[in-house]
Amino acid sequence: MPASEFDIIARYFTDQSSSRADIILGIGDDAAIVAPPADQQLAIAIDTLVAGVHFPKDTTACDIGWKALAVNLSDMAAMGAAPAWFTLALTLPEANEQWLTDFSAGLHAAARQYEVRLIGGDTTHGPLTISVQIAGYVQPGQALTRSGARPGDQIWVSGTLGDAALGLLVQQQKLHSDTAVRDQLLQRLNRPTPRVALGERLAGVATSCIDISDGLLADLQHILDASGKGAEIFPHLLPLSEPVTALLQNNPQWQTLPLYGGDDYELCFTVSAAHADLIEQLQDELHLTLTCIGEITGPGGLTCLTESREVIAITSTGYDHFKQE
Ligand code: ADP
Ligand code: MG
Repeated sequence: MPASEFDIIARYFTDQSSSRADIILGIGDDAAIVAPPADQQLAIAIDTLVAGVHFPKDTTACDIGWKALAVNLSDMAAMGAAPAWFTLALTLPEANEQWLTDFSAGLHAAARQYEVRLIGGDTTHGPLTISVQIAGYVQPGQALTRSGARPGDQIWVSGTLGDAALGLLVQQQKLHSDTAVRDQLLQRLNRPTPRVALGERLAGVATSCIDISDGLLADLQHILDASGKGAEIFPHLLPLSEPVTALLQNNPQWQTLPLYGGDDYELCFTVSAAHADLIEQLQDELHLTLTCIGEITGPGGLTCLTESREVIAITSTGYDHFKQE
């Protein structure tokens, strides 16, 4: 077992291969020093994962490490920012070497893939909790906020929805699936892919954007609230992966889960219809499915419609940590 907090930092968090010119001083001093490009603005976000709340207690350390950074990268994507560096506040119940080896491997794998660097943090003793704070760069005035949606704008989502939520049901044994489907869904739950390249390409193009962490309905509602608008969406247009389609065929009681299930970390964004061609083009460029699921309307609620425009009543709207059930 490592002797101290300093051993843990030195062994698992200091040795990193990537380097960045904007980092003057990384881990090891009382604070890190960074030099953001003079012509860029800084986007800053923080997200905390608590064991048993944000991930099941039996999630592997490697997946926890990946996800802790990925959910923050997803926030950068949602702002249209290019992620640059992050800090890590780690609260550990024990200094377990195997756990730390696996956790740091997952964390550093995500850092390498998205070319961001860990520049500092804090290590304490207590119930397993991981906070990552991240910063990224965005051109002045180009950040994607939640508040710019306009009537007539198209509503788009990236990737597929419902994979992570169904994965959780499978993991909790509330839903049965074969091993291949289970593995694909759990990959989506435990190793989300932040849509960083898409976010950067949407900066200055999309009128609003959010990453889908709490479920499409809840997160789209945040855009509508911030923009003071309503929306019509068509649930039959929702992009579903093959495993989700197969599972829902056999379990129709979960049919609406892709509408409100969380943890997919896809982007939901609005664009003027004039940009539809550009969005189609982005799909090929990024090898990522992008699907138009509806339209922003004037002030009003969020309405789900069938193909023939009949209103569908939906009750669940997403995950709220403080909601009384
Ligand atoms: P201080 O006592 O001055 O707050 P610490 O002893 O907490 O400093 O940390 C020493 C150095 O290690 C600092 O540069 C800090 O940013 C870094 N550090 C501490 N914990 C972590 C961690 N979990 N990941 C990355 N860097 C860390
Ligand atoms: Mg100090």
